[in-house]
Amino acid sequence: MADRDARRSLSQLLRVEPGSRIDLDRFDAQRTHGWKREDAELHQAEQEARLTELQERLWAEGKRSLLIVLQGIDAAGKDGTIRKVMDAFNPQGCTVTGFKVPSSEELRHDYLWRIHHHTPGKGSVAIFNRSHYEDVLIVRVHGLVPRDVWRRRYRQINDWERLLTEEGTVIRKFFLYIDRDEQRERLQARIDDPNKRWKFSASDLPEREKWDSYRKAFEDMLEKTSTKDAPWYLIPANRKWFRNLAVSTVLAETLTAMDPRYPPADPGIEDIVIPR
Ligand code: AMP
Ligand code: MG
Repeated sequence: MADRDARRSLSQLLRVEPGSRIDLDRFDAQRTHGWKREDAELHQAEQEARLTELQERLWAEGKRSLLIVLQGIDAAGKDGTIRKVMDAFNPQGCTVTGFKVPSSEELRHDYLWRIHHHTPGKGSVAIFNRSHYEDVLIVRVHGLVPRDVWRRRYRQINDWERLLTEEGTVIRKFFLYIDRDEQRERLQARIDDPNKRWKFSASDLPEREKWDSYRKAFEDMLEKTSTKDAPWYLIPANRKWFRNLAVSTVLAETLTAMDPRYPPADPGIEDIVIPR
């Protein structure tokens, strides 16, 4: 049954294999790989329960860490994904960092300086809402540094991520892809709903006009920085329920494969009786 196959290999279907070519113009942001909303929501709840248990084991083990990177164009659903994923995690042992326009102090350092500080400590999960990838996205699209400077960053980023991996941090990167029509609807909704207006930024419209430049920058990012140890997952994100299912599934599989263990108890502990 096509459905079952899709279920078994959802992570594989979404992973960007190193060396593959990406054409976002031909990528279907509506796609759900055979999943129906109801089943997806049930399965999603199961993944969340797994995530809760596995994160506790990661924290108890205290030896390794997980870094989750979220990228996507404005209104792609980065905030919503974080809310959903955070539901599963104990806030103790999980950090969320949003990366904005760098401060003047940050700009006086190399672009990874401000990022490195927020990578997860042993036992922890760190979620990045935007990341060092902005330095090959908005920085490239707006020409904030010369071409030869941003071009070498793909290699630098791969090197830096390898360093993190070798030091015990597992990295999973999610690119949430919505299409142009979906972005128009979501931005319009931010304007129409008074409680969402704070989310609309004056830069959202000029950025939207640069759709094609961003598309090229996203494609290059996916092609050049999806590595075996720090892969990108290209998530069709028009449907929020599928996006949530996809991210939870990949994370649950990742933590399951890491198989964190509770530390061994002191010998003889089972014989201890707490005195009255
Ligand atoms: P938001 O995520 O909507 O709060 O917006 C944050 C803004 O900061 C986005 O427009 C990002 O593109 C921008 N930003 C993040 N990192 C950088 C960077 N390294 N250089 C320039 N702009 C950045
Ligand atoms: Mg914004």
